[in-house]
Amino acid sequence: MLYRPYALALRDPRWRKKRFLILAEHRYKCDDCSLRRAGLEVHHIEYIEGRAPWDYSSDYFAVLCRNCHARRHFPVNPDEHQACLFSDPELSPLLQKPYAA
Ligand SMILES: [Zn+2]
Ligand SMILES: [Zn+2]
Repeated sequence: MLYRPYALALRDPRWRKKRFLILAEHRYKCDDCSLRRAGLEVHHIEYIEGRAPWDYSSDYFAVLCRNCHARRHFPVNPDEHQACLFSDPELSPLLQKPYAA
């Protein structure tokens, strides 16, 4: 089982901070196509049972644009995309001002 209240966890300031760190480490570029664009999503490569999203090391994440993100999930295992709750388009407008408080 995944840590269930993920929708809530993704609104946690600890995750927002972690997410910015991940995006900064990847230089705000898609890992697969190297494009910089708004709407980058953080893809979670592997889950560990019971672990909060901010308690993973950066190795567990990829930064992908929406197209590449979809390509990673589909058509290999369409169900997996629902499990990747780390993609959070709702927060992507923040990308345009990565250093805003
Ligand atoms: Zn891409
Ligand atoms: Zn994903």
